[in-house]
Amino acid sequence: MVAQDRTVAVIGGGLAGLSAAHGLLQQGMAVEVYDMGKRGPGGRSSTRRVDHEGSCLQFDHGCQFIRASDPAVQENIQEWERKGYVQQWDGRLGLLDAHTGTFTERSTSGPDASPSGFCGIMGPGDIYVGVPSMDALCKGLASHPNLQSHWGSRVTGISRLGDDAWEVQYEAGREATPATGRHSAVILADIMTVRQGSPGVLDLGEAGASPVVQQLRTVTGSPVFSLMVCLEKGAVDAPIDGASVAGCDVIQWVARDSSKPGRERSDGLDCWVAMTTEAYAQQLLAEALLTRDGAYVAQSQQYLSDVAPRIWEALWRALQPFSGVERPTPVYMHAQRWGSGFKANLLPEACLSDRQLGIAACGDFCVESSAQGAVLSGLAAARALHEALGDSSVTTELSRGLL
Ligand SMILES: Cc1cc2nc3c(=O)[nH]c(=O)nc-3n(C[C@H](O)[C@H](O)[C@H](O)COP(=O)(O)OP(=O)(O)OC[C@H]3O[C@@H](n4cnc5c(N)ncnc54)[C@H](O)[C@@H]3O)c2cc1C
Repeated sequence: MVAQDRTVAVIGGGLAGLSAAHGLLQQGMAVEVYDMGKRGPGGRSSTRRVDHEGSCLQFDHGCQFIRASDPAVQENIQEWERKGYVQQWDGRLGLLDAHTGTFTERSTSGPDASPSGFCGIMGPGDIYVGVPSMDALCKGLASHPNLQSHWGSRVTGISRLGDDAWEVQYEAGREATPATGRHSAVILADIMTVRQGSPGVLDLGEAGASPVVQQLRTVTGSPVFSLMVCLEKGAVDAPIDGASVAGCDVIQWVARDSSKPGRERSDGLDCWVAMTTEAYAQQLLAEALLTRDGAYVAQSQQYLSDVAPRIWEALWRALQPFSGVERPTPVYMHAQRWGSGFKANLLPEACLSDRQLGIAACGDFCVESSAQGAVLSGLAAARALHEALGDSSVTTELSRGLL
């Protein structure tokens, strides 16, 4: 049996936490991942499904794609492609200039363009998406037979037990039943864990004094709203499947979500997704605050329904020059608020780690605020903790090759 206190606790089951968990499993270590998401793991790489008049509408309302320009990410992506978690998105992808009404397709063979703009779509590297939905990637990673999981479980605190163990306190499942776990090390895989006024904030006990936590607290998030719109197929006749948008104050990205691999629809509908600029998201947040008196304010469905037509208006203005048709009436539309969708400042380290205390942190706040950055940071945290814990923490059962 794997002794429970020899396991590493990963708090956060997004791409960073799950990449860290896989890195640790590959080193023969035992891992338990905790995530408070009600729909399972995934974090910002998730998918929204809506039952609309008998049709299941599906939108990648968070992460749109993974750009694989780093060799370590390319290697992992190849493995995920073999397992059927991802596929290359070979669509009409590029840059839409809303000001001039022009679209420039990305070139995979041209010189390295700057990876600025929407998640580096105009930069080097192939573009991949989860199939048949973005959340399939994290669900695939989470299905590893040796990975123990606590989905729908919010971690509320961590405390040190003696010199070489941690207790993780959490609320398990829908009933939020208080429970604890004992582990040899902890990975914080989200800045929410240290952010007052966020739903994921932990009581950190003596870990609060660790340089890992101190540095993590310097990271700030930047907001974004996503718009999910369902239109009759052909209602927008633009030769675009996904585009970073320039020259528009409201929108920075638009995608015909149904054009991604594995999402073909036979009901005459197309699902579209757009992302606001940070400036416009800030404007919306000034109208409906993210926190009040230091406490998190949940987004209301009514508020999001009111916001959606405003974003749709701007999206239509950006698409109209390519369309040549009358402005269509959406079959369905809704918005989603991401209070900390991207990171406003990045740490130069690949991950943070306090080897003596047995605590590390990873996420898209290290090096690159993107899905690729999250994967790289998770892998770095696994390496750092493996080195810190040494062979004594390698559980004999797993190291005998059961992976
Ligand atoms: C709208 C939007 C569009 C984006 N589009 C792209 C894109 O096209 N390409 C790209 O490369 N990047 C994109 N990104 C960024 C990308 O989604 C993120 O960089 C990446 O998903 C971050 O992964 P992560 O694991 O670091 O964090 P997350 O995915 O946020 O995972 C953190 C997890 O920790 C969990 N958690 C936090 N606190 C606790 C707690 N106390 N207890 C239990 N669980 C906890 C959360 O529930 C969450 O699941 C986009 C982001 C947004 C918001």
